[in-house]
Amino acid sequence: MSQAQEESVASNLVSHTEYDAVVVGAGFAGMYMLHRLREKGLSARVFETGEGVGGTWYWNRYPGARVDSPSMQYSLSFSSEMEQEWKWSEFYSPQADLEKYANHVADRFDLRRDIQFGTRVVGASFDDDTKRWLIETDRGDSVSAKYFITAAGCLSATNVPNFKGIESFEGQWYHTSRWPAEGVDLTGKRVGIIGTGSTGIQAIPVLAEQSEHLHVFQRTPNYSLPSNNTKMDPAFEQEWKQTYPQHRQAARESAVGVEIPAFSDRSALDATEEERQAAFEGAWGNYAALLATFNDITTNPEANEFVAEFVRNKIRQTVKNPEVAELLAPKGYPIGTKRICIDSGYFETYNRDNVTLVDVKTNPIEEITPTGLRTTADSYDLDVLVFATGFDAMTGPLFRMGIVGKDGLSLQDKWDAGPRTYLGISTVGFPNMFMITGPGSPSVLSNMTTSIEQHVDWIIDTITYLKKNGLENIEPMAEAEDQWVEHVNEVANLTLYPRANSWYLGANIPGKPRVFMPYVGGVGNYRKKCDEVVANNYEGFELTG
Ligand code: NAP
Repeated sequence: MSQAQEESVASNLVSHTEYDAVVVGAGFAGMYMLHRLREKGLSARVFETGEGVGGTWYWNRYPGARVDSPSMQYSLSFSSEMEQEWKWSEFYSPQADLEKYANHVADRFDLRRDIQFGTRVVGASFDDDTKRWLIETDRGDSVSAKYFITAAGCLSATNVPNFKGIESFEGQWYHTSRWPAEGVDLTGKRVGIIGTGSTGIQAIPVLAEQSEHLHVFQRTPNYSLPSNNTKMDPAFEQEWKQTYPQHRQAARESAVGVEIPAFSDRSALDATEEERQAAFEGAWGNYAALLATFNDITTNPEANEFVAEFVRNKIRQTVKNPEVAELLAPKGYPIGTKRICIDSGYFETYNRDNVTLVDVKTNPIEEITPTGLRTTADSYDLDVLVFATGFDAMTGPLFRMGIVGKDGLSLQDKWDAGPRTYLGISTVGFPNMFMITGPGSPSVLSNMTTSIEQHVDWIIDTITYLKKNGLENIEPMAEAEDQWVEHVNEVANLTLYPRANSWYLGANIPGKPRVFMPYVGGVGNYRKKCDEVVANNYEGFELTG
């Protein structure tokens, strides 16, 4: 933090105790929410655990961290001046650029004065008498707010599996999303990494370059495509900046919040083998395009298997050792049902002499030892252990805030069997609480910046409506929530998504209910539904006061 930023934080330690709104989190969601609240003349306080803005891009500093949506689209659209002025240096931005951008947003809109950093919300309860939310932090703040808005991200609650012996490890260990800002010197170190999801796949090539030897402990291999990342092409940037409004509108109406190629109207089963190979080869390097090559890749297991095998063959062509290649080739779940990764030289990394792949599906990790790690088959001496073991997604960040609604009902108890929301933005029993990109909204299945802006705008329009009409409270009705939950499940079951043990289903966290959490019905359709609810006088909500 700069001196100016530190002074701003110091002068901002809570001096008020009553706000119109309290927002949790100062990533893109929390910052844009604060900006819009202020525009409407509402008082707001943002609490942020980190010491700076950026959310995901503040925390995830692991080597190789990079966004997998194109930079021109993974950005905020609400200020056309900022859109025009900001320059992205690469097609897919690295973490450092995104953190810089987040700081630019905070400075440009003078947001820091209403953000309290280094502060975690540890309790938020609805007071049945005053109809206000009481929010408590780990720094002893106790404030009240009319509206309680969560902007804590879907992937911010880290998951470090409960390995036996972890406390005995004499080396250093890190979770990727808590990587030290000053970096870690791995020169001459024996490094082990557990996890081969999007994070592991990005980190592994860089860790291999930096360390003496890298052991990769893989339980489930993932489908990954080369990102073919490049420096930003000035002509491409120019074209986008000249036509930004059209591009943004297309993204808002799209299936996933970024412009993607239209789905083919043909089944993969009707094509010849040559036609399929040509289509897949043409889309190679763009996972959205790959899934759109035929109209049934995401819904028909047979069609899906054609693409899956195409990707496996790419791995077999890249990795020189056939046994290693076979271990890296994902099998047993359809492509696209776990987040497809994009990488920079991931599979090539296994051709290096200083990289060893260890199959911990066949021989699971038994314990962490003082000197490394032991599987059921072997022991490994390690100086540094990296956990790329993901997150308690979507519900984890909300549960960790200790949210309690009407009649003393905790969110955790209410969602004991899985999250229940109306539109992914609100839940029965928790009046005047809004969840930005909550479970039951497109969120993690979309370009986050597109979905964040849609939710923030909807929330602001709703608060404005309430004020204009002299209304105090908004809460969804049980029937509307039941129907929405049913709809979210119904559309997920039309796809192949439920066939993988993914974090979308909570399958990565022992004991978490197996429920498909995000809404797969598409960003454009979802937006229409939210707008219809408003047009029909907040259909499904009870407005009182
Ligand atoms: P993840 O997809 O949940 O992957 C976690 C990895 O850790 C998996 O390989 C998992 O194996 C392994 N693991 C967990 N517990 C284990 C255990 N007890 N023993 C052995 N292995 C274990 O987490 P992530 O890679 O951090 O990615 C999460 C999400 O963040 C992504 O899907 C993506 O949405 C987002 N992300 C995006 C970007 C980007 O934009 N470029 C980059 C990174 C992350 P199993 O699969 O067998 O459980």
